[in-house]
Amino acid sequence: MATKFDVIVVGGGPSGNAAAYTLAKAGMQVLQLERGETPGSKNVQGAILYSDALERIIPDFRDDAPLERHIIEQRMWVLDDESFVGSHYRSDRFNRPPYNRYTIIRAQFDKWFSERVQRAGALLICETTVQDLLLDNGRVIGVQTDRTGGTVYADVVILADGVNSALARKAGFRPELKPAEVALAVKEIHFLPQETVESRFNVSGDAGVVIEMMGKITRGMAGTGFLYTNKESITVGVGCLLSDFKKQKISPYDLLDQMKSHPAISPLLAGGEMKEYCAHLIPEGGYKAIPQLSGDGWMVVGDAAMLVNSVHREGSNLAMTSGRLAAETVIELAQEGKPYSAENLLRYRSKLDESFVMKDLKKYRNMPEVLHGNPHFFTDYPEMLSDAAHTLLHVDGSDKKSKERQVRKELRSRRSILGMMGDAYKIWRAFE
Ligand SMILES: Cc1cc2nc3c(=O)[nH]c(=O)nc-3n(C[C@H](O)[C@H](O)[C@H](O)COP(=O)(O)OP(=O)(O)OC[C@H]3O[C@@H](n4cnc5c(N)ncnc54)[C@H](O)[C@@H]3O)c2cc1C
Repeated sequence: MATKFDVIVVGGGPSGNAAAYTLAKAGMQVLQLERGETPGSKNVQGAILYSDALERIIPDFRDDAPLERHIIEQRMWVLDDESFVGSHYRSDRFNRPPYNRYTIIRAQFDKWFSERVQRAGALLICETTVQDLLLDNGRVIGVQTDRTGGTVYADVVILADGVNSALARKAGFRPELKPAEVALAVKEIHFLPQETVESRFNVSGDAGVVIEMMGKITRGMAGTGFLYTNKESITVGVGCLLSDFKKQKISPYDLLDQMKSHPAISPLLAGGEMKEYCAHLIPEGGYKAIPQLSGDGWMVVGDAAMLVNSVHREGSNLAMTSGRLAAETVIELAQEGKPYSAENLLRYRSKLDESFVMKDLKKYRNMPEVLHGNPHFFTDYPEMLSDAAHTLLHVDGSDKKSKERQVRKELRSRRSILGMMGDAYKIWRAFE
């Protein structure tokens, strides 16, 4: 099939769908290639959908998108082996439409998004792996697929092929992934009756709860755990840097098992039937790991461009926004009658720089190093917090002043004053 399109989009995840939809809506001839059986069949996500990014692409998405629960409560837990110190934020403002965040099941959501893409006019071909980019004098002119005679040409190719982005690596557009720049995340979905989910989390209707976790559950590795309520199921997972997994020699599955048996977590999952288990990489290198984003005849979006804000656990919204901005760049250049040259496609980077995507990633640019180089944030501090809370709340006849002295003594025995001040400074700088 040696055919020519205006644009080829490689990948049927949120970034590829956002790009293909925006382009097709504008009347461009779009071919979207997905290696999975259906879009979403190869995708893994926790999953929280941030509505703003999708609303800017499909304003009426709430009419028929498969949404599980809108989130009205966010919990943040710092865990040691037998307790947690936590904060909860619950607001009725989150319980009034239009809702801002939803839990979703990615396989269903990606399929729905893809149907919208096809209705907008893009041609989707699944079970087709793009093996190579076709280059002519350094300019990308199409792709080579694994189908017989599967060469397809286009004026511009958008790489939305996810974290591994083998195509960009093969073409020399980006370096190999470093183990310290990617997290390996595992998650399970546990099915429970809807009433059980609602009573366990004190919600009703379509309202839901999110729990983000850090501390000893990751055994000193840089990473976090999460638990989300769906309609009739609970998603639970954990992710840590690949480089840390290599050092600790613990399997992600064992880590998740240990996390699920924590006394604060196991009652939430009790009686559930686990029906889905998957593992996937997440690009967590942040701003400093972002590769070249465009060149002659190509652009890269979403996870393939390392656009994930791991501090706030946002990925799909950055993926959709980058897909939309890449598409808008193509549309503008087409309207202006300009070629998709390396110079003209730099406009995509400028659009990203002006958006929350780059502003947020830039803000947290030092975070990966801080978390990676300081395992005590995940071990000592959770224990120190828990011990302090326990000492203060345990009523044993000691006066409160003595208890405060004891807490200070315990804290200093674990970490010196200078050490604590240094840690506070590092965290402040990383969040600055
Ligand atoms: C466990 C986990 C939990 C997460 N939780 C959240 C969350 O709660 N909220 C959030 O916003 N983000 C979350 N993320 C991140 C989010 O999933 C990603 O940022 C998002 O999926 C990126 O979208 P994408 O389209 O760029 O890539 P992907 O979703 O990975 O899609 C890439 C697509 O390209 C296809 N593909 C790859 N190579 C080829 C090829 N050569 N030819 C054809 N097709 C190809 C793949 O099959 C895939 O369908 C989570 C990630 C993980 C792993």
